[in-house]
Amino acid sequence: MRVAVMTAPGRVEVEERPDPGIEKPTDAVIRLAATCVCGSDLWPYRGIEPLDGPRPMGHEYVGVVEEVGGEVTTVSPGDFVVGSFFASDNTCEICRAGYQSSCVRREAAAPGGAQADLMRVPLADGTLIATPGVPEPDLVPSLLAASDVLGTGWFGAVAAEVGPGKTVAVVGDGAVGLLAVLAARELGAERIIAMSRTPARQALARELGATDVLTERGDEGVAAVKDLTDGLGAHSVVEAVGTQESMMQALRATRPGGHMGFVGVAHEVSLSGMDVFFSHAHLHGGPAPVRQYLPDLVRRIWERRIDPGRVFDLELPLERAADAYRAMDERKSVKVLLRPRG
Ligand SMILES: [Zn+2]
Repeated sequence: MRVAVMTAPGRVEVEERPDPGIEKPTDAVIRLAATCVCGSDLWPYRGIEPLDGPRPMGHEYVGVVEEVGGEVTTVSPGDFVVGSFFASDNTCEICRAGYQSSCVRREAAAPGGAQADLMRVPLADGTLIATPGVPEPDLVPSLLAASDVLGTGWFGAVAAEVGPGKTVAVVGDGAVGLLAVLAARELGAERIIAMSRTPARQALARELGATDVLTERGDEGVAAVKDLTDGLGAHSVVEAVGTQESMMQALRATRPGGHMGFVGVAHEVSLSGMDVFFSHAHLHGGPAPVRQYLPDLVRRIWERRIDPGRVFDLELPLERAADAYRAMDERKSVKVLLRPRG
C-alpha cells in the first residue's frame, strides 16, 4: 500500500509499505475512501514539533472495512465507517463519562498512518461508527470532517457552553474554527463572531453561521469583541489555534462568568495565574472526545442537515500529498482532501 511519510520538516513522501493486517482480535483494517491533512500535521512540518524519525502521517479517515479481528462485533467487512483520531474502548469509566480521547486504553487510531490506501484501527468496536449504508459520494467529505475537525469544533463549542441566547466568539479561521461556527449555529447561539482576515474564509464563516466577522487580532481583537458586547466580552469563546496570542485573545474576550473552550493544540503557551484568576472564566478543552459526538454528527450529515465538508477547498490524489501539505502550510487551502484512488 501507499502511505504519506514525513521524513523531515517540510518534506512528505508517498512510500510503498506492506499492507496492514489484523494484529489483535480487537483490530479492524479499512480501505480508505478519503483522508486529509490536519492543521496539527503542520506543527512537525514546520519544525515546531520534533520528529523522531520518518513518521507515517494522517489520523482522519473514512472507508470500508476489509477485515476484522475475532473479537470485533459492531462493524463487519463491507461496512462504511468513520472513527476518531484516538482509538478508545468506549466502555471504561472515562469513556462512559464522555471523554473517549482520554480512554484508559487510548492509543493512536492510525498507528500506521491514515494518509494511505489501507489502515489498521485498534479497538475497532469502541472507535468506529458504521454509517447507515454506503454514502452518496457528495456526503463523503462531510463524513471525513466528522472524523476530526467537525468533532473538534463541536467539542470546542460544547466546552464553551454555547447555547440559545449566547454570544459566541471563535478565535481561528482554520477548519476547526470554521466548524466551531457551524456547531455554534447548530447549538442555537444567538450571535456568532468569527475572527478572520482572509476574505474566502470570512465568506465561508458567514455561510456556516457567523453573524459578525472581525479582522482584528490580539488586544485589538479583544477590544472589538467587547465593542460588540456592551463592553462585557462574549459568553462563549472557542480557541482553535493553539498559540500564546490566540489563547490570551480568547481568555480576554470571555466575559466574567463566561466559558472558554480551547481545542487548538497548545504549543509553547503559558498562561499567567493572575490572568486566569481575574478572568472569572470557566476553562475547558483538550483533545476532543470526537467519539462521543460521532453518532449525532453522522446522523446530522446523513440527513443533510449540516454540510461540514464545505471546509475542503482542494482535493488531490494521495500521491500528491506533498502538494497538499504545501498548500495548507502556505494557507492557500483551508483543508485538503486526499483520495487514495484519485
Ligand atoms: Zn475507555
